[in-house]
Amino acid sequence: MRFVVIGGGPAGVRAASTAARLGAEVTLVERDVIGGAANLWDCVPSKAMIATGALVNRSRRAELLGLAPLSPEVDLAALGRRVRDIEARLASSMTAQLESQGVRIVRGSARMAGSHSVEVTGPDDEVLDADAVLLATGSFPRIPEWATLDGEHVLSTRQAYPPPVVPEHLVVVGSGVTGVEFVHMFSSLGSAVSLIVSRQQVLPQKDPEVAAALETNFLERGVSLLKGARAAGVEHTEKGVRVLCDDGRAVEGSHVLLCIGSVPASEGLGLDKAGIDLTPSGHVAVNHHCQSRVPHIYAAGDLSGRLPLASVAAVQGHKVAEHVMGLHTREHRHLDYDKAASAIFTEPEIADVGLAEAEAFALGRKIRVTKVPYAANSRALIDGDPRGFVKLVSDPATGVVLGGSIVGAHASELVSVIALAVTANLKVSDLAESLFVHPALAEALAEAAE
Ligand SMILES: Cc1cc2nc3c(=O)[nH]c(=O)nc-3n(C[C@H](O)[C@H](O)[C@H](O)COP(=O)(O)OP(=O)(O)OC[C@H]3O[C@@H](n4cnc5c(N)ncnc54)[C@H](O)[C@@H]3O)c2cc1C
Repeated sequence: MRFVVIGGGPAGVRAASTAARLGAEVTLVERDVIGGAANLWDCVPSKAMIATGALVNRSRRAELLGLAPLSPEVDLAALGRRVRDIEARLASSMTAQLESQGVRIVRGSARMAGSHSVEVTGPDDEVLDADAVLLATGSFPRIPEWATLDGEHVLSTRQAYPPPVVPEHLVVVGSGVTGVEFVHMFSSLGSAVSLIVSRQQVLPQKDPEVAAALETNFLERGVSLLKGARAAGVEHTEKGVRVLCDDGRAVEGSHVLLCIGSVPASEGLGLDKAGIDLTPSGHVAVNHHCQSRVPHIYAAGDLSGRLPLASVAAVQGHKVAEHVMGLHTREHRHLDYDKAASAIFTEPEIADVGLAEAEAFALGRKIRVTKVPYAANSRALIDGDPRGFVKLVSDPATGVVLGGSIVGAHASELVSVIALAVTANLKVSDLAESLFVHPALAEALAEAAE
């Protein structure tokens, strides 16, 4: 089986690795860095900067833990070196692992030259014959027509790791997951921040109680929220920028950061030559095996238009490799996107999985909801951060865990326990009777399951 993977992000790397382990002859084409946008621009640098911001915030609360007041200063040059060092380490360990598994890595830009042929141009010019192809080229930030990036005052997320100076006053456009994470990041690093929220709630897709907890935190930190406003233009001013909204309001700042979603990287891939359909949004149309209209050509990750998460991309890549190698016949093996855990790395952290309370009410579905505040958890009090809660959603008739939301420290770690319960159809009694560590935040989960 000659399997060609285009794109070395989480989807491509995992597919290449699994397929090589299963015995395929794998070639992975990457035009930039192994690890993909996830390592270079998205998950890794954003969370590395947020980790620094978290330490700053924690130091500001030092007195609560019995220390004399601390006032840390941000060293942007050191922060930039740290971010690049993490990226380089990840890229080199992934490359080494793929090579040790026998994956051939080709450097260059790939496009379909026919349905069984991939043409590479770049450092390594060549034409590859393929029995199966995975398109895993990801996506890039959407830049609206009304804005021109200048890398100084008008920034995309890819220009923020870190910017040359900590913005004095940052205007963030977009209040989805990416937007709120950048609000948190820069407000922790010392910027004044204004957030333009097109609806009446930040994180419009999330449980209102969860979104409200984040809004409260933003307001406490002095973040200004412009609700019900759509950004429609940017003007340069003496001090930086003025962002104009479609309702006539305007907000001034030193910098503006655009966080208004992403565009699939489907252009220039020669997809017409291979007979592949795109959806109106430019994603490759795929079935539940991630197959395009041409059965031996697959798409995974952001290009597939499913849940745009690195975690999901990697599991899609794994499934594609299994399908390519004929291991997909077991019924339970379909990916269930409704059971994907996701997290927002703000303060407090937010994480959820499965059925949300608001969603169940909208569907008219009977559920049991139990909620435990972090303030009742000994570890949260010991760590000096009792903000937040754990909410568990279960089926009142069977006790099966259907979902959950966590707002609070380490929510992104704790949610995996609920994700496992949801995927394995565990009951609340399974959680309640598990022998968790004490003192630990996870005890709040066991308590919510009682
Ligand atoms: C700011 C931000 C933060 C995020 N944080 C998180 C997070 O914390 N957790 C999470 O799960 N998700 C996060 N995401 C989403 C996550 O980054 C994406 O879902 C993930 O990167 C998608 O993986 P992928 O494999 O589809 O593609 P990518 O990671 O985008 O990789 C695609 C690769 O393909 C290469 N490529 C493209 N075209 C070609 C070509 N023609 N030839 C050769 N190579 C090509 C590119 O160079 C790139 O390396 C974040 C997104 C953003 C914008």
